[in-house]
Amino acid sequence: MIFKITQITISPTLLNCFNDLHPFRHSLFNDLKINSMIAQSFQYESPSTIKEAIELLQKHGDEAKILSGGHSLIPMMKLRFASPEYIIDINRIPGLSYIKEEGGMLKIGALTREAEIEHSDLLKKHFPIFTDVTKLIADPQVRNMGTIGGNLAHGDAANDHPAVMLALNATVIATGPEGERAIPIDEFFFGFYQTALQPDEILTEIQIPVSQHGTGSAYHKLERKVGDYATAGVAVHLTLDKNNTCTSIGIGLTNVNPTPLRASRSEQALFGKELTESTIAQAAQFASEDCSPSSDLRGSEEYKRAMVAVLVKRMIHKAAERAKA
Ligand code: FAD
Repeated sequence: MIFKITQITISPTLLNCFNDLHPFRHSLFNDLKINSMIAQSFQYESPSTIKEAIELLQKHGDEAKILSGGHSLIPMMKLRFASPEYIIDINRIPGLSYIKEEGGMLKIGALTREAEIEHSDLLKKHFPIFTDVTKLIADPQVRNMGTIGGNLAHGDAANDHPAVMLALNATVIATGPEGERAIPIDEFFFGFYQTALQPDEILTEIQIPVSQHGTGSAYHKLERKVGDYATAGVAVHLTLDKNNTCTSIGIGLTNVNPTPLRASRSEQALFGKELTESTIAQAAQFASEDCSPSSDLRGSEEYKRAMVAVLVKRMIHKAAERAKA
């Protein structure tokens, strides 16, 4: 199905919210006096299978963009930060939206909406970190449309899921002309709004090892107002043995670096060590030193580093409480 679209109708409220909230867009808006509200015209395609969608990506190359929830892509197009010639809407492809446990893995389909993740009983039981994170993403309207696949594929360090995926050691499944390939999350984000996805690949699934006994996780972000992007955000996933020794640890940081950041030195400070106020303080200090926040309307670099340290401490304590529950 192909249509020529000359104007997207998106609520001005949504766009204004987006401009107001996102640090990067806000500064460009002010500094460059960008005021376009109308996207460039494009061809709209709506394939009904993944194979068909990949063929369209192969045919149109860099000129094409996948559309999932549209809640990052369409604002970017209206601001002319993205001007794709072709939009490939994957919403009519069946079988891309699910949350299930299979073979020791939690599997989430790329088209699963934030609202479904927020209310999933399976996730509430085994991965409460997903309830933590989704209820902090924007507002219910955005969560009704935005997808987990789009949130990751966008490659935005201000988005909340990337840090959670780093903490959980997720694997991203990309489907392309040669079939599926598994991309470890540490190899997925590699530049400003850049991911390891090739132009002819679609993110189709996220896989996460199911927690063992003694495991807990938690996410929180500091936000100026409800629904805001993070001033700083921290995700922690850990396993404790009966001696309170940390036998696995993942820590991811939101919006304090040009790319989503794993706090590696903090993880090393805790791995194999007893969880004490002193080891936790050391981990918090390392995270605040190793991130690279920029000063902006959300606060100075110094303030953000201090908030990272506070949040790392709090999220370790919260994850540990859940691990012991
Ligand atoms: P889309 O907008 O459809 O796509 C985003 C990008 O990813 C595009 O480049 C697209 O081509 C690509 N893409 C999408 N799906 C795939 C796929 N399956 N395979 C390959 N490429 C793909 N996010 C947060 O994390 N935290 C917030 O606090 C937050 N606040 C927001 C506030 C507002 C007002 C708005 C409008 C958005 C906010 N967002 C926030 C972003 C929101 O979560 C987006 O929905 C999300 O970033 C993108 O998901 P999407 O499904 O809408 O993707």
